[in-house]
Amino acid sequence: MPESRFWLLRDIRAARKQGPESIRRRQQARLADIVAYARARSPYYRQLYHGVPDQITNPAQLPVTSKAELMPRFDDWVTDPDVTLAKVRAHVEDPSLIGEKFLGRYTVATTSGTSGARGIFLTEDRAMAVGTTLIAARIMPTWLGPAGLLRIVARGGRMAAVVATDGHFAAYVGATQMRNRSRLGRKQAEVFSVHSPLPELVDALNRFQPAVIIGYASVIALLAGEQESGRLRIRPVLVQPGGETLAAGEYQRIARAFNATVRDGYAATECLFMAYRCQHGWLHVNADWVLLEPVDADHQPVPPGQRSHTVLLTNLANRIQPILRYDLGDSIEARPQPCPCGDPLPAIGLQGRAGDVLTFPTHSGDEVAITPLAFGTLIDRTPGVELFPDRTNRADNVAGASAPGRRRRCRPDMARSAHRDRWPAHHARSRQSRRRTRPRTTRTGPRGQVPHCDPTTRNHSRKPPPHVLMRPLVGARRL
Ligand SMILES: [Zn+2]
Repeated sequence: MPESRFWLLRDIRAARKQGPESIRRRQQARLADIVAYARARSPYYRQLYHGVPDQITNPAQLPVTSKAELMPRFDDWVTDPDVTLAKVRAHVEDPSLIGEKFLGRYTVATTSGTSGARGIFLTEDRAMAVGTTLIAARIMPTWLGPAGLLRIVARGGRMAAVVATDGHFAAYVGATQMRNRSRLGRKQAEVFSVHSPLPELVDALNRFQPAVIIGYASVIALLAGEQESGRLRIRPVLVQPGGETLAAGEYQRIARAFNATVRDGYAATECLFMAYRCQHGWLHVNADWVLLEPVDADHQPVPPGQRSHTVLLTNLANRIQPILRYDLGDSIEARPQPCPCGDPLPAIGLQGRAGDVLTFPTHSGDEVAITPLAFGTLIDRTPGVELFPDRTNRADNVAGASAPGRRRRCRPDMARSAHRDRWPAHHARSRQSRRRTRPRTTRTGPRGQVPHCDPTTRNHSRKPPPHVLMRPLVGARRL
């Protein structure tokens, strides 16, 4: 199905204009297509779908999949026999290949392992084109309107991505590809390491003066504090917190600090364009290219208005490594009525996973704040550590698992010794100045305009020890 960019652009615009029925029709046709493709090209799916009817009209006809089941069957899962786990692993273990296409045609990204086993995901050019066209033709115009888009152009179109740069993480891979595309790309897109010390990051952003800033939500929240204090002096048009979802009040604080539009999306390495947030706080699913099914613990449908136990993701665009009824692990809720913003795409609320900013005391008496995804991507590079299910919020008690069924303490000094060059002296400021600039947030404040985002998640169930700074985040997704 070699759609041109122009065809995609027209189709993406037409789908929303023609309304819910046309979106549903596209979704159904694309589901049937990708199921047929997976069945024909993937030995794993051929076996899994044995006994499933030839014509799929309802996703519930298909069995559920998960990363834990699929990753061990990687070579059978993919639809291109040239792709093997051994070859892809060799690619992702080489940092010089970040942003380079695998076999010249597949973009590779890994999940950080912050919320489970590590995954390696390939995206073909067609699916990348769907994602970038959705951003250009649907998401950015919805967020900013023509006036906002013009302001970005007027400010040089510069985009700052504040991301983890020590691995093939989707956000870094995307920013690197944008830079590598052209000389203009290198001028307009700049990558800033989330592991940089905060004062250095602030200075670099002051010099770059981005029109758009994208970064882990917890880092954006720290930067908003720097802007409030006057140390950071930038004038972005759009601020896009990603990877984690903040509590509702934090979005308003960030918007006030930067005097900018703050919007985020719902994305995963498995599907980079699932949904985007509207001005009413709901996430609108790009349902012409993605299928999200809220289900209970037995994978039965959950009615609109109720929180699901998990969500099943079907990526309708990416055929190289089909993601079909894949248990993503997030809790969502479908909005029963149309959204007041008027967008005909289905609206959901996201509870997701939670992470917290941890602070560690230093020998000099300063505090070092570590954002959860920065921490996650760092731990991800610690040899032998596969998982680190944080259950305690204690900085000295973050647990990791080095082997199935075995848990061990992963102390900060252990991670530091493994990553002496990367351990963030990061975000260090004097205790006094941090107190002055620390944003005031509550652990269980009112939900504001996003009633489905509940900060009282499992990571917030205990009173924190005094040295741990708690800042509520709702929904961490490892990009
Ligand atoms: Zn809406």
